[in-house]
Amino acid sequence: MTQVVSSETRDGIAVICIDNPPVNAASFAVRKGLVEQIEAFEADTLAKVAVLIGAGRTFVAGADIREFGKPPEAPILPDVVSRIENCAKPVVAVIHGTAFGGGLELALGAHYRIALPNAQIGLPEVKLGIIPGAGGTQRLPRLAGIEAALDIATSGAPIGSGKALALGIVDTISDEGDPKAAGLKFAKELAATGGSIRPTGGLPAPKLDSAVAERFRHKLSKSARGQIAPLRCLDAVLASATLPIEDGLKQERDIFIELMNSPQREGLIHAFLSERQVAKLPEIEGITPRKIAKIGVVGGGTMGCGIAVSALLNGLHVTLIERDEDGVSRARIGLERILGGSVTRGKLTADKRDAMLEKQFAYSTDYSALGQADLVVEAVFESMEVKKEVFEQLDQHCRPGAILASNTSYLDVNEIAQFTSRPGDVLGLHFFSPAHIMKLLEVVVADKTAPDVVATGFALAKTLRKIPVRAGVCDGFIGNRILNTYRTHADHMVLDGADPYQIDRALVAAGFAMGPFAVSDLAGLDIGWATRQRLAPTRDPRERIAKFADAMCEQGWFGAKTGRGFYLHGTDTPRGTPNPEVLPLIDADRAERGITPRAFADEEIVNRYMAAMVNEAAKVVGEGIALRPLDVDVVLLNGYGFPRHLGGPLHYADQIGVKVMLERVESYATEDAYFWTPAPLLQELADEGGKFADLNTLEKGTSHA
Ligand code: NAD
Repeated sequence: MTQVVSSETRDGIAVICIDNPPVNAASFAVRKGLVEQIEAFEADTLAKVAVLIGAGRTFVAGADIREFGKPPEAPILPDVVSRIENCAKPVVAVIHGTAFGGGLELALGAHYRIALPNAQIGLPEVKLGIIPGAGGTQRLPRLAGIEAALDIATSGAPIGSGKALALGIVDTISDEGDPKAAGLKFAKELAATGGSIRPTGGLPAPKLDSAVAERFRHKLSKSARGQIAPLRCLDAVLASATLPIEDGLKQERDIFIELMNSPQREGLIHAFLSERQVAKLPEIEGITPRKIAKIGVVGGGTMGCGIAVSALLNGLHVTLIERDEDGVSRARIGLERILGGSVTRGKLTADKRDAMLEKQFAYSTDYSALGQADLVVEAVFESMEVKKEVFEQLDQHCRPGAILASNTSYLDVNEIAQFTSRPGDVLGLHFFSPAHIMKLLEVVVADKTAPDVVATGFALAKTLRKIPVRAGVCDGFIGNRILNTYRTHADHMVLDGADPYQIDRALVAAGFAMGPFAVSDLAGLDIGWATRQRLAPTRDPRERIAKFADAMCEQGWFGAKTGRGFYLHGTDTPRGTPNPEVLPLIDADRAERGITPRAFADEEIVNRYMAAMVNEAAKVVGEGIALRPLDVDVVLLNGYGFPRHLGGPLHYADQIGVKVMLERVESYATEDAYFWTPAPLLQELADEGGKFADLNTLEKGTSHA
């Protein structure tokens, strides 16, 4: 068996190699091995310089996620880093691939750092609700200065080798091609010049610029709303300027431990692990997906263009079908606008874009152009009649074995499948807007969808670098169904006395990306209007439906796209300016129902909104529409702006307590028993003293329905 950390000494250079596939995570075995090898190097009189490298495709990519949540076993990483730094002979770290978190901290413990051109470094800990705990906040500012260190550590965003060199984090970029050759070359030169040790912790403390500190504090209090870690990370980095290294390291460790025990860290880790778990389904285990190289997109509106761009950027061939030449021209403009944006933002060069459009892309108004497509995504108007027309055409023109997918937001995919002679090849692929940016993809599995078609939906998501979540068929699948419920309750609160702007403010303060009324303005108020009209014939008379929203649409106020909705959206109007004509419409609706408005505290608004979300989410899991609670959490986190540090609605419910959630639902039910019918699963878990998290593991062929 290969040693996890091995060492080989030749010509006075010890090459210490970390070999812990797949990403050389800083596990217990790695930490222990490193200490042993550094000690052996120190004792070896023949070895003058040590080179620290990672085997395979990367240096140490970060901590070992299998050790998350477990008590750390000694030697802990801060001690390993200090041991390297205190080594009596020089240690050179060679970074290739990624050195994130603990990986970068290890490299900062070395006396010299070399990067290969592809290297990326970063301190992503704040994204998991903690701060670097092995000296990153103290050593990085000593190399790069306070401002750059704050940028890297409080954002969690990685930087490339060029920037790392410019900031003084690495000493050189090597073009030797492999880490060992790069390290040996540098070490030999160092040895020849009698190279000395250069502990990063021994460098002078960085200078504190209070204006920079204030700017970051101000920025983070907005961008990291509700989150503790980024601001505590700021405190730790600033301490590097005022405290001696030992005290700074101690302060960093204290903050690290404080955050390790915070519910926010649990929420963020849950989000991270759930996103890795979500595509692991017994249903598709061992099933080979169909090959997808050419896709068709029908409908070149908002979604069709976004889906086409996402496919193009990820190397697929795309044929886009519109209903007539006008449609083709509009689609062309839409698509080129999105690609133009990618060029402006530096994500794509103009040459690459032109080549992509020439070689990978075609438009047509004729369905026979889809004869060679492996998979077609329909993104036409949200109308069953139009979808029927399209799927009948697809059935006629697509080759046997081609997959036919609908991007419908709400419609019945079982019914859509019946418009074809091959329901086994039909599924829903529900992208989110803007489809070339949003990571979430609901893979909607209809009654007859074949398992390899489901597997292909998941494989396509991987090709498109999206996060796929399996959803069953119901009105709105996982996300839009839950959205409809909590959004309806936001309207209820308005009818009863809260104003839409207070609701938006309260939810933004709770960490949501946007409030529900601002979201409606952006998505288009006509969408909700159309849904209300579609559902009206089957509506239960006990359902409370706000009329003020319909009254707004009747005025032609569809939100941002018409310049007016709950807010004003003119070019010279400051963002978030309420539309002054909305409150009178709300008053009229209340008056017609004989409601005397009452005041709502922000806390009550948040509790009710969350309870509506959790209760519907529990129904979605209980009915098997979502396989596990974690699938719901991933959907709400990635498609609906749910605060990541709260982990998703069902993780949040576990943290508040399932019993407390049920009590809230039951107490609200005294006012509106129809809306607040408790989810049977919520009731069951509360009775048994269980948690949603208990349902996150699946046996083959099961769901929690
Ligand atoms: P859109 O109105 O922007 O675009 C629809 C396009 O389909 C138009 O360009 C139209 O010309 C074209 N079209 C209509 N009939 C056609 C036909 N028979 N053949 C070819 N093209 C035809 O609509 P959109 O917002 O892109 O939505 C499309 C679908 O995606 C809908 O089912 C919608 O519910 C769903 N969806 C929308 C969003 C969103 O946020 N907009 C998000 C997820 C899913």
